[in-house]
Amino acid sequence: MKRLFLIIGAPGSGKTTDAEIIAKKHSDKIVHYSTGELLRAEVERGTPLGATIASYIDKGELVPLEIVMDTIREAIRRSERETVLIDGFPRSVEQMEALDKMLSENRDIELEAVIEIVVSEETAKERILGRKRGADDNEEVFYNRMKVYLEPLEKIEEFYGKKGLLVKIDGERSIEEIVKDIEEFILEKIGER
Ligand code: ADP
Repeated sequence: MKRLFLIIGAPGSGKTTDAEIIAKKHSDKIVHYSTGELLRAEVERGTPLGATIASYIDKGELVPLEIVMDTIREAIRRSERETVLIDGFPRSVEQMEALDKMLSENRDIELEAVIEIVVSEETAKERILGRKRGADDNEEVFYNRMKVYLEPLEKIEEFYGKKGLLVKIDGERSIEEIVKDIEEFILEKIGER
């Protein structure tokens, strides 16, 4: 049985950092994958697939559905802990629908919650432009990533809200406070608290 927690949030919301801290602290029970990092790892490998992925990331566009779904499926399959945190997914209505289909076909994967880290566009922009992780951390690409993030958000919130799976977390606070909220929520859900 795999218990899945998804963490979504604007570029710069801190979702990867937060999830990483939580998984590290509870590494006996929790694993974490960042969708962006998994995709960048393929780019690093220098494969033809990696070159395709890079052409989307560099523009701040979404990587095509099949590539993302294969990446997610593979991450869940190889995870050696029961609780799996994935950040940066789903990022579109089609990804959400493909996940729903995958879950209905896999009774051994349970979606526990979709955690949305909420930050203003202003905060997101300050963090991203101050960070410079890659070629996609510049102002023009930032605005496109923000637009791509916001476009399906309402539908994603509605879909998981109706299922009672959506949890919103205020991301305009210190990392410690945000991590504490998410950590407590997850531990409670998996019956560790
Ligand atoms: P951020 O959330 O700060 O934009 P990520 O590392 O999560 O950073 O994503 C960087 C890039 O990787 C995105 O702009 C996009 O090109 C690609 N990417 C990440 N997650 C997905 C996803 N679920 N679907 C498609 N592309 C994705």
